[in-house]
Amino acid sequence: MTLDRRELLAGAGLIGAAAALGLNRPAFAASEKTLGNGKVTILSDGHMSFPTSFMYPDVADDAMTALLTSHNLPTDQLEPPCNLTLYQTGDRIILFDVGGGSQFLPTTGKLPDALDAIGLTPEDITDVIFTHAHPDHLWGLLDDFDDLLFPDANYYISEPEWAFWTDPDTVSKVREDQQGLAVGSKRRLEILSDQITLFKPESELLSGIYAHDTSGHTPGHCSFEIREGSEQLLVLGDALAHPIITFEHPEWPFGQDISSERSIITRKRLLDFLATRQMELIGYHLPYPGFGRAERHSSAYRFVAP
Ligand SMILES: [Zn+2]
Repeated sequence: MTLDRRELLAGAGLIGAAAALGLNRPAFAASEKTLGNGKVTILSDGHMSFPTSFMYPDVADDAMTALLTSHNLPTDQLEPPCNLTLYQTGDRIILFDVGGGSQFLPTTGKLPDALDAIGLTPEDITDVIFTHAHPDHLWGLLDDFDDLLFPDANYYISEPEWAFWTDPDTVSKVREDQQGLAVGSKRRLEILSDQITLFKPESELLSGIYAHDTSGHTPGHCSFEIREGSEQLLVLGDALAHPIITFEHPEWPFGQDISSERSIITRKRLLDFLATRQMELIGYHLPYPGFGRAERHSSAYRFVAP
């Protein structure tokens, strides 16, 4: 962390407030684990906050309330964190998704500060891999001046994801309340058109990084298996978005999925895969830092944090 940044944070009251609370820790937490010879770091981009009924409009209120109450969770509001995965291996520094940036929500867009807190600059990022093109994953691509935040990086997104969001007809195909987001995502992807690499789902896009087709949330949504020696870890993106609802009721429709039917098939297949392989996962919106596993439980699954 530079002195300038420290002064800036202190000026914003962040370090001061933490000190007053006796919290002797950085304003932007980062969580690390090793994976073979590589290192995975989770950076917080912030969090979001939505009414439960907006996120799950097609689930009966009493069933949802009963489930959340049984886990002592608030029933009216969901507050998903946004966990960005940074993977360092050899001379590569790879970022999976880039957060919401400064033009999405005031509670997201913390990635530049999180990078700074671990001593990296945006110029250090060699590769950016997108799970999908929703704003909380893509819009952090641009800085406050609409320039690329990661000017030196290689960018990757799946072919079907690119085709969907850059299609001029997509804006009229998505739900009315999603149209502004679709316009914003199309504009951002088009800025990358000369330098982005498209890959096919179910392929190895970079050495040691395999793209699993987890479509449904969006048409080209992918989750990424990082293979380092004998170890593996799956960067889920939004394929499993809630630690209780998604794992205990993968069949419940999630209001943010573009194809509800396809998403339900994907969630069931993915949970079976993760539980069978006992593979460690990172969930973008699972409780910070998002590390955990899926275990079979009763007639469905449960999320188990380490
Ligand atoms: Zn998301």
